[in-house]
Amino acid sequence: MKTKHVAHCLVLAYPAQGHINPMIQFSKRLAHRGINITLVTTLSFWNQSKTNNNNNNDNNFLFSPNIHSESISDGYDDGGLLAAATLEIYKDTFWKVGRQTLSDLIGKLMIGNYNNNPVDCVIYDSFMPWALEVAKEFGILAAVFCTQPCAVNNIYFHVHKNLIELPLSESEYSLPGSVKLLAEELPSFLYEYGSYPGYFDIVTGQFSNVHKADWVLANTYNELEQEVIEWLSKIWPLKTIGPCIPSMYLDKRLQDDKDYGISIHNQNIDACIQWLNDKPKSSVIYVSFGSMAGPTEKQTEELAYALKNSNHYFMWVVRASEQNKLPKGKFMDTLEKGLIVTWCPQLQVLTHDAVGCFISHCGWNSTLEALCLGVPMIAMPVWSDQITNAKYVKDVWNMGLKVVVDEVDGVAKRETIVDCIKEMMESEKGNEIRENATKWKNLAKNSVDEGGSSDKNIEDFVSELAQCAA
Ligand code: UDP
Repeated sequence: MKTKHVAHCLVLAYPAQGHINPMIQFSKRLAHRGINITLVTTLSFWNQSKTNNNNNNDNNFLFSPNIHSESISDGYDDGGLLAAATLEIYKDTFWKVGRQTLSDLIGKLMIGNYNNNPVDCVIYDSFMPWALEVAKEFGILAAVFCTQPCAVNNIYFHVHKNLIELPLSESEYSLPGSVKLLAEELPSFLYEYGSYPGYFDIVTGQFSNVHKADWVLANTYNELEQEVIEWLSKIWPLKTIGPCIPSMYLDKRLQDDKDYGISIHNQNIDACIQWLNDKPKSSVIYVSFGSMAGPTEKQTEELAYALKNSNHYFMWVVRASEQNKLPKGKFMDTLEKGLIVTWCPQLQVLTHDAVGCFISHCGWNSTLEALCLGVPMIAMPVWSDQITNAKYVKDVWNMGLKVVVDEVDGVAKRETIVDCIKEMMESEKGNEIRENATKWKNLAKNSVDEGGSSDKNIEDFVSELAQCAA
């Protein structure tokens, strides 16, 4: 008797924390609906995350019985990007070796129908458009997964189409579906053209073959980016499926689900939460610059003294590789109201009652997490799409403030940061922003709840997939 075919997606994540996190969450939502998932990233990333996640000798236990992990090679199995001489060299090697090893992996999964369950669709991070070509060589479906906001995808698509001249020649840009953006509010790879050629190539190459994709999945929600989503839907088979944060924080149906994140950083979850437990409601400033961004030493010093001088409680994530930028001696010895950690369970921290605001680099995951959990932000973007995200946080979604950088030395001064903290934590304007943050939180919950916009889009994706795979 022929067994019923269950749709099988190979989900290919780019090896970076901010990319794998949302793809894991999306995989879990698909698995919850009965889809089989093979979750793939580079061997080097899996190995690093295994070393840092207790007892995690096999990533399979993290997710669900429907999710299995596999790896491809980036050409640097021992160390990944850090083992390469430059990002440009890493990218060139990864793009070649990754393409080949992905092809080998799909070949293996197709042979003998692999437990009667050949791959039907490759869902790949938009940073790796070559994965679409591999999927098409096997005659299977391809869905591109965008880990950045649609506002930013739209900008990069315009650059790819040569509709934005580089180096930038205008002071202001009006793109369809977007608010007016000053040149300096565009992602840093455009405004500071030439600054990171490797990343520039990756971000502007994301949509080079998007016309061949069967779906474009975006980690955002309709209510948040309505106009640009409407515009992009005219040219792409777009479905918004976010916010991709652990369902337990959002979806009533999945309260029993566990927040199994993976990380390449060591963390002491209990110590962070215990520290927060005896702090008064909304009294703590949580500070993090995500997994990659590093403020300069001068900026770190200004922020350190601002936090101390504000006289509020603060929990500050300073990754191990950044700790040498902290002021030495007296500062560290007199931190009565602060806790500095190298990594923390960010979602648990953001949902903790004691947290009153989030000083953030505005990486897209952190921004979405703050929006979904109703935590107001103080934006301190460093580079990349963070610059544009910060503009939206402050001026479009009205759920945060932005620290102004001194024009002369490019550093936000401690007094300026203290003013922002006081405005957020102690003023009427802060309360207004907090109310707005709650509005976005409710809209986010509605979008993933039964019948909500993202929930419906995921349902549609699953049934379209089932039809194609049947
Ligand atoms: N994160 C975390 N603990 C930390 C700092 C960050 O779990 O101490 C998570 C955070 O919740 C988010 C991701 O790491 O999901 C960072 O992604 P984001 O897009 O915000 O920034 P990136 O690291 O890509 O710059």
